[in-house]
Amino acid sequence: PAMAVAKTFVLYPSLGVGHLIPMVELAKHLLRQGHNVVVVVVDTLDREAVSADAVARLATANPSVALRLIPAPPSPDSGAHLIKRSLDTLRLANPALHGFLRSLPAVDALLLDMYCVDALDVADELAIPAYFFFPSAAGDLAVYLSLPKYYRRHPGVPSFRDMGETLVHCPGVPPIRAVDMPQTVQDKESDQTKARMYQFSRIPEGRGVLVNSFDWLEPKSLKALQDGVCLPGRPTPRVYCIGPLVNDGSSKSAKRHECLAWLDAQPEKSVVFLSFGSKGAFPEPQLKDIARGLECSGQRFLWIVRSPPEEQSKFREPDLERLLPAGFLERTAGRGMVVKNWAPQAEVVRHMAVGAFVTHCGWNSTLEAIMSGLPMICWPLYAEQALNKVFMVEEMKIAVALKGYEQGMVKAGEVEDKLRMVMETEEGTKLREMLVVAKKMALDAIGKGGVYCIGPLVNDGSSKSAKQHECLAWLAAQPEKSVVFLS
Ligand code: UDP
Repeated sequence: PAMAVAKTFVLYPSLGVGHLIPMVELAKHLLRQGHNVVVVVVDTLDREAVSADAVARLATANPSVALRLIPAPPSPDSGAHLIKRSLDTLRLANPALHGFLRSLPAVDALLLDMYCVDALDVADELAIPAYFFFPSAAGDLAVYLSLPKYYRRHPGVPSFRDMGETLVHCPGVPPIRAVDMPQTVQDKESDQTKARMYQFSRIPEGRGVLVNSFDWLEPKSLKALQDGVCLPGRPTPRVYCIGPLVNDGSSKSAKRHECLAWLDAQPEKSVVFLSFGSKGAFPEPQLKDIARGLECSGQRFLWIVRSPPEEQSKFREPDLERLLPAGFLERTAGRGMVVKNWAPQAEVVRHMAVGAFVTHCGWNSTLEAIMSGLPMICWPLYAEQALNKVFMVEEMKIAVALKGYEQGMVKAGEVEDKLRMVMETEEGTKLREMLVVAKKMALDAIGKGGVYCIGPLVNDGSSKSAKQHECLAWLAAQPEKSVVFLS
């Protein structure tokens, strides 16, 4: 239900489309409740930041959302890893953020992306309550909050990258093979791991963390977070479960994408959709093996293909004739479609013709699939996707994993086997049944409250300004509950 008093929220995503998209969804939900929302996007020359294209695409698709750009110089350490560069750039954006916030008549809360930890200092200077918005699984948050302490408690342990299959134990999540721990914390001596430890250790300074998940999906992680066991000896910020918050496919672009027309012509639940997030790209030999697997599986498919990583600066458009096996496109023309670079995924996963989803396990993609009741085949690529795979396969039981991703090569035969398994066997039917339940529980979570339950989100007066206002001194001298306050 709409709240009685409209608040003004400033949403502050970090660099990267995968971070901007869920913030825009959060903005839309807050707008529907009658609040005022501004999404502030850092405009920097860093090549991996949100591109102006992506901002323009989102602005067109979501005309109700006010997107404002603030300038920031790129990180001076241009050779550093993306994580460190992002944190540096966001820190350098602090003065511009400060100026922007001061230009607004009032701000009730600042909702920060998890990388925007240094914006806590700006919030503090301006006495604005700051919350984090965590657009990934509660299980990921449980692991992240535990890690600084984990490394401090076990100074002698090797880096995860040297531990292979050894199981790592963190509160609230199943034992995780070291190889599945987030890519960015694999080498404990690296700058990026150090940058992440700094980031994770500041998250608890927020007033609370809004997690894009729901109780039924991750009961153990959420309980661990709520019980404070991820941060022994330190207060855990309050965790608000606000999900699932996904692009529901309702902000359609002006022109319907041709893949949707192609899907219209396919039988119900017959198409396997392959999409690997905003950045997923494979080297040529892997593209060829995927193609062979698709061809041998006999399944219908819709596959989003990008240029191999090493070619992206030269060729934005993938040269399909060269990258895929000779004659593949002709031989599969009747039952498969290859889309270059980008498709409207939120609309695709909801299409009646789609029956399974090969995904890199990005959290937005996972939630979109759950909301569409789609069983998933996991192919983690980067970030915390391998962790998500563990939760999806072992805890949620909504997916199966492809073998070989850890070594960077999934063979054609494995692609064929897993596609057949999900599309043709009893195990696939079981997954599908689980997805029916997961979808229902996701809809219930939204119906019960979900995204509508994040309030009341108010300044509780605890971010005090340096100098106490004289009226507070005057109040201190009055008898209890004796003053009428007019404001
Ligand atoms: N997406 C899309 N079209 C594409 C690829 C991705 O619309 O061709 C969207 C997808 O629907 C999701 C987001 O981009 O909302 C990707 O977010 P996710 O968390 O899954 O992965 P990330 O890009 O952060 O790795």
